[in-house]
Amino acid sequence: MSLTRIDLPLEKLTQPRTEDDIQEALARERARLQAMMGMDSRPVRHFQRPVERPFSAQERNKVTILFGGLTWKHERVIQAVFEGCGYKCEILPVPDVAGFQLGKEYGNNGQCNPTYFTVGNLVKFLQSLQSRGLTKQEIIDNFVFFTAGSCGPCRFGMYESEYRLALQNAGFDGFRVLLFQQNDGVKAASGEAGLKFTVDFGVGMLNALNLGDIMHEMIYRIRPYEVEKGKTDKVFQASIDTLCTMLRERKPFEDHEDLPEWMSSRIKEHKGEKWEICVNSLLKVREQLYGNPYKDALQAVRDQLATIEVDRLRVKPIVKIIGEFWAQTTEGDGNFHMFDFLEREGAQVLVEPIATWIMYMMYQVKARAAARRALDAPYKNPHWWELHKLAKNELKFKQKQWMIGVGERIYARQYHRVVEGLGDIAHHLIDQKEMAEMANPFYNEFARGGEGHLEVGKNVYYTKHRLCHMVLALKPFGCMPSSQSDGVQSAVANHFKEMIFLPIETSGEGEINAHSRVQMALGEAKVKARAEFEQVLQSTGKRLDDIKDYVAEHPELRNLFYPVPQREGVTGIAANFVLHVSDLMNGKARIQRISPPATATLSPAAA
Ligand code: SF4
Repeated sequence: MSLTRIDLPLEKLTQPRTEDDIQEALARERARLQAMMGMDSRPVRHFQRPVERPFSAQERNKVTILFGGLTWKHERVIQAVFEGCGYKCEILPVPDVAGFQLGKEYGNNGQCNPTYFTVGNLVKFLQSLQSRGLTKQEIIDNFVFFTAGSCGPCRFGMYESEYRLALQNAGFDGFRVLLFQQNDGVKAASGEAGLKFTVDFGVGMLNALNLGDIMHEMIYRIRPYEVEKGKTDKVFQASIDTLCTMLRERKPFEDHEDLPEWMSSRIKEHKGEKWEICVNSLLKVREQLYGNPYKDALQAVRDQLATIEVDRLRVKPIVKIIGEFWAQTTEGDGNFHMFDFLEREGAQVLVEPIATWIMYMMYQVKARAAARRALDAPYKNPHWWELHKLAKNELKFKQKQWMIGVGERIYARQYHRVVEGLGDIAHHLIDQKEMAEMANPFYNEFARGGEGHLEVGKNVYYTKHRLCHMVLALKPFGCMPSSQSDGVQSAVANHFKEMIFLPIETSGEGEINAHSRVQMALGEAKVKARAEFEQVLQSTGKRLDDIKDYVAEHPELRNLFYPVPQREGVTGIAANFVLHVSDLMNGKARIQRISPPATATLSPAAA
């Protein structure tokens, strides 16, 4: 088909063209093309998103909500919140290669790796229900899938339609997919009455995410140093049970029941009025975040964890994991079981919390608003004497900054409260502004999609602050944003000569190849960690055996929660520990007394 010029009457060609001229020419051209394609005689049928059968409140008792894709720690506590709010809920198995193959079989071509893994994993689970004797109709009627959604710009925007397509192709047409949209910030988009985003549910999920994140980091922080092999896993299982019991069984706060009698009787008279709903919601939030059940559960978990004895004199390279959200989170075939592999090879893994992503989204809203300040102002280019216009512009801008700023502070505050409540050994959240500034010379903070500038920012941040010996980027096959940042990382690595950085592309195959590449880079990191340790030990002027003897005589130093100061420029746990023990031996520091577990109640499995 050849393109033709958009014609205008001759006299108009010599005059400046107006908007009307352009519209007129466009209409004529559209009519010509429609006639050419035979579309002028047919009614126009635009694409409509398929109308899905709603998940109604009446179904709540019989329909099971399926979800997955995070770590077992996150999933268990999230499940407990669902159950505590009255939902039936089941966790999908960790996505594996068989699921990946099903995703390829039933999904579109050219998708990224996490799409195949997660979509195929759902199909695989539904097929397993069938093999247990359920009919397709029973599965469609009695299960729904809950997942995050987005508008892109990467393939994350296609997940919802990919789920629907694969389900349709696999014979589960009509299976319901409920979405939690992330593109508009942290806004719930499911309008389904069956799944209600109440205050208890929302704050419960916030608690669950924080607890999942921190427990996830702590298990990788502790296990490489455990004295008794296998103890960490057992204790963490029991600790997650404790948290789940609290999240599932805590009674939701109600003002007319839980306030003192003289108040609750008055409140009963006004139940359902706007101010009462508002007050009740605020008190619910307070009780969820600061109430005794929460504090007691944190204390109980801390006591349970305190039963793990650690040996901090093991020299281990710290490997910081970065990469695409799903690939850096999953603990299975989706990233070649990379965390287990690294630990087996003698490394300490530093994982990434989901909270970083949430803080990134809030930071992005603020930064974009700042960049678009003049564009979004109610009054464009006011003169300097038009003070009321200038004031209104300023107010509009500041309102958004304050609102998001408050959100950031509350979120970070809650996160750090849980870190402290669980013994203060997990990391605090990174300042997003600082990370963006570090990434900006290499990767613009407004280049959206996937992890955006985070991969580059984290690589620079952890290297500059000497928080790890090696950075491992896990990026899925076919991931658009990760391919972009991969290109940039070579410039970053050239800039920081001491950096050990390895990008690994994850897919449904090639595990041995990936492990062998990691082994090579890890070899360098081990040398780096060992050299740091030897240098530090030498600087103390002490023999390692003397340090060991001192530690053997002081059980506090084998306590998991003993606070070892982190020295500027010293990365390894063992190196920092040796410096501290040396100070203790020289009388430059005093041993911190750690109170024994007060209420350690281990389940029989962990005892
Ligand atoms: S970030 Fe990459 S892997 Fe993740 S959804 Fe987007 S394109 Fe796919």
